[in-house]
Amino acid sequence: RRANWSPVLRPKSTAPKNFTDYESMKEAYRPRVPARFNFAKDVLDVWEAKEKAGARSSLPALWWVDEQRTEIRWSFEELGFHSRRLANVLSEECRLAQGDRVFLILPRVPEWWLVNIACLRAGTVLIPGTSQLTPRDILHRLQVSEAKCVITDESTAHLLDAVGSQCPALTSKLLLSTRGRQGWGDLTALMGSASADHVCVDTSSDDHMTIFFTSGTTGSPKMTLHSHCSFGLGLTINGRYWLDLTDSSVFWNTSDTGWAKTAWSSVFASWTQGACVFAHHMPRFNTSTVLQTLSRYPISTFCTAPTAYRMLVQEDPSRFQFPALEHCLCAGEPINPEVMSQWRRLTDLDIYEGYGQTETVLIAGTFKGMEVRPGSFGKVSPAYDVQVVDDEGRVLPRGTEGNLAIRVKPHRPFCLFLEYMVPPEKTAECFRGDFYLTGDRGVMDKDGYLWFIGRADDVILSAGYRIGPFEVENALIEHEAVAESAVVSSPDPIRGEVVKAFVVLTPEYKSMNQYELIRELQAHVKRVTAPYKYPRKIEFVDQLPKTVSGKIRRVELRKKEWDHQM
Ligand code: ATP
Ligand code: MG
Repeated sequence: RRANWSPVLRPKSTAPKNFTDYESMKEAYRPRVPARFNFAKDVLDVWEAKEKAGARSSLPALWWVDEQRTEIRWSFEELGFHSRRLANVLSEECRLAQGDRVFLILPRVPEWWLVNIACLRAGTVLIPGTSQLTPRDILHRLQVSEAKCVITDESTAHLLDAVGSQCPALTSKLLLSTRGRQGWGDLTALMGSASADHVCVDTSSDDHMTIFFTSGTTGSPKMTLHSHCSFGLGLTINGRYWLDLTDSSVFWNTSDTGWAKTAWSSVFASWTQGACVFAHHMPRFNTSTVLQTLSRYPISTFCTAPTAYRMLVQEDPSRFQFPALEHCLCAGEPINPEVMSQWRRLTDLDIYEGYGQTETVLIAGTFKGMEVRPGSFGKVSPAYDVQVVDDEGRVLPRGTEGNLAIRVKPHRPFCLFLEYMVPPEKTAECFRGDFYLTGDRGVMDKDGYLWFIGRADDVILSAGYRIGPFEVENALIEHEAVAESAVVSSPDPIRGEVVKAFVVLTPEYKSMNQYELIRELQAHVKRVTAPYKYPRKIEFVDQLPKTVSGKIRRVELRKKEWDHQM
């Protein structure tokens, strides 16, 4: 059976799809890691050939729209044509060799996907960054990565010009723009004159493929290195098993191009399955644009962040019809059970949660055909042996809280990052005994469902109790006054630390007497969860501090609390 496993989905009749139970899905996952692997050659070119032979649906491979409803639809053949020309630009015009690094800052424009594929074809290592990086971030990333080439648009070119002289490795700059800029090559013009004949480089599965920076939720973003097999092949688990995609799916994932989640969902996971990647340019997340887009286009599969679902349920999605929508997912942060049930009430669809990191592919998830248990990620992904372990890496019994960890001995999973290039000492720190520690805490129940407690640093220790912020936040959001909250520790002379909640109120409650509201929320939390977990302190705020990718930065709130008391 092993020999037959391929990242490219087999024809429908034999495809092990729509698993009705978790065990048969796990049984079907039998990856074979070839010595040589390149996603462009071994996946995209295969779909291109299938498409030409009439063995794929007629959907585009990339379907891009913007707010003016301009559309670009590219088949696998067109993606191949454009990306081969761009690969020639990288190797010839920019004189990049295999292994050289390319720093890419573009918003969700079709060229972003072309650069991704061109780098695979030319064997250059891609470093995606978000358009919201500051000049300091850009300088730091260019210097530590020693990138030889940058590709961006007008919004960011001036920032790169300001810091470029401090980056000796940088030898070429490509600009996506209708106007020229001194010192920059014109991406579109160069592609226009480049040949579309290109032979994809031969890469080993272990060759470096991409470098992502983590979201920076707990501290400085870590520079995370992936190989051709770790992400190029490894993300098949996300596409086939969690996202449940086929070549008839139209999949919209809303994450920003700077984060691993976009590689996870909008590149590798989708295209292993031959699915159509749907993208909306959407410079800012806008709830009505999202709901209109879901109703206007035949999007079958939708994935967005929990923070986005919290905003969407406030918009009342039941005003819209989503004729094609079949499968909704989320990842990146825990999703509140209350939001899941509101989404279900309004759309008749469940939200299937996924848990993973920049360092990994899907670690755990709720897979189609599995009972959805709100508040739990779901079960362990077949890609890994996941256990709950103590701080020395010893496996803990089911039902005990501990570190969520991936077994790496005797066999290191091929779909795990290679190392943190910066800061390098962090790599060794996250391996303990036979395990890679995720930095997250959780519990596995007797049925194998995993329950998130919080990031290890976010767990609150109050008068001998360990309290996970997620459970308290879930309790708070069940109250109609609460739009969103973040729960952190706050110093207390008797208990050491106590639970403090920062709460964003729903509009109807903003003018209510705050003293009474605090009492009411405290009583509510005591009612719906163990009373010792109730927030002894509550502060109302207009918004919560978040990362660029929208994750709540509890570390910032916690730091303020503790600094304040010093
Ligand atoms: P940094 O490592 O720089 O602090 P980060 O951990 O947020 O940032 P990412 O790799 O983008 O960077 O995010 C992975 C983390 O996101 C996980 O370790 C976990 O804490 C959180 N996460 C992801 N999915 C979920 C989920 N479904 N439920 C709870 N937490 C999740
Ligand atoms: Mg992290």
